Amino acid sequence: MVDLPTFSDVEAAAERLRGVAHITPVMRSQTLDHRLGAKVVFKCENLQRMGAFKFRGAYNALSRFDATQRKAGVITFSSGNHAQAIALSAKLLDMPAVIVMPEDAPQAKLAATRAYGAEVVMYDRYKQDREALTRDLAQLRGLTLIPPYDHPDVIAGQGTAALELIQQAGELDVLLVPLGGGGLLSGSALAARATSPQCKIYGVEPEAGNDGQQSLRAGQIVHIQTPQTIADGAQTQHLGQYTFGVIQRDVTDILTASDQQLIEAMQFFAERMKIVVEPTGCLGLAAACHAQQSLSGLRVGVIISGGNVDMRRFGQWLTQA
Ligand SMILES: *Cc1c(COP(=O)(O)O)cnc(C)c1O
Repeated sequence: MVDLPTFSDVEAAAERLRGVAHITPVMRSQTLDHRLGAKVVFKCENLQRMGAFKFRGAYNALSRFDATQRKAGVITFSSGNHAQAIALSAKLLDMPAVIVMPEDAPQAKLAATRAYGAEVVMYDRYKQDREALTRDLAQLRGLTLIPPYDHPDVIAGQGTAALELIQQAGELDVLLVPLGGGGLLSGSALAARATSPQCKIYGVEPEAGNDGQQSLRAGQIVHIQTPQTIADGAQTQHLGQYTFGVIQRDVTDILTASDQQLIEAMQFFAERMKIVVEPTGCLGLAAACHAQQSLSGLRVGVIISGGNVDMRRFGQWLTQA
């Protein structure tokens, strides 16, 4: 068994992020509250630096490096929001960053990561094992690997979003959190357990990739093939040792949402609330709108995890029936 992070790690992360991460706004919608008969509060991490909550975990992890680690720098493998979060955090902390990305990653993502000053190392996703490549490079150059979710400092940093939400909006009855590898969900669970003890905590993952739900039912980490879903931030194949440990202990249940439900939620955010939310960021609202149990009379927190979406696809989704 690994040593799981605790609520005091989340509090320490919040201290490190003070004045660096944005205190993102909490938004409400009268229309939605009427529809559900609930009080719904949205934590807008789509408005966080670099456009997603991942800045919190990355910056927290990097700010704990010692002098030797800082000098050599950080390495990670990701083509998504974690890559940009590491790149921006490394730039702010003035350390080198190496990001291992597939050579067919979207040009916009490569460009954004390089724009933050990171060195991008490309690999062939059909011929090379990215984790082995990353480990070899780390060894060779003395870099510290910070993975996208299964790391205590990453989890503690991600937990500061829910901590902030409860500080801003008060105690909750239900908290809905997008779920990929579980960094955000496990951190949120640590924060909510401590600051809103009555709160039921739910992870929400894509219907096509419900490995988290399966893992919770099975009592062990279930691995799946990369799922086909528009929620690219939650296309993970399995939870991690740390994230599963916390999820198993502190999370009430794991729900799912279909791609069609995500598109409807994205349209609601754009039309009613005037905000840009990426598909993965829509998981919480989709689950609230399709909940098996009534949310009537409840205080419901929803974490909007990110807003990084290709504008052409966004336009297509908004106009889709
Ligand atoms: C990474 C990510 C998630 C999933 O977070 P995990 O910590 O991997 O569970 C959800 N939404 C967005 C926007 C993300 O970038």
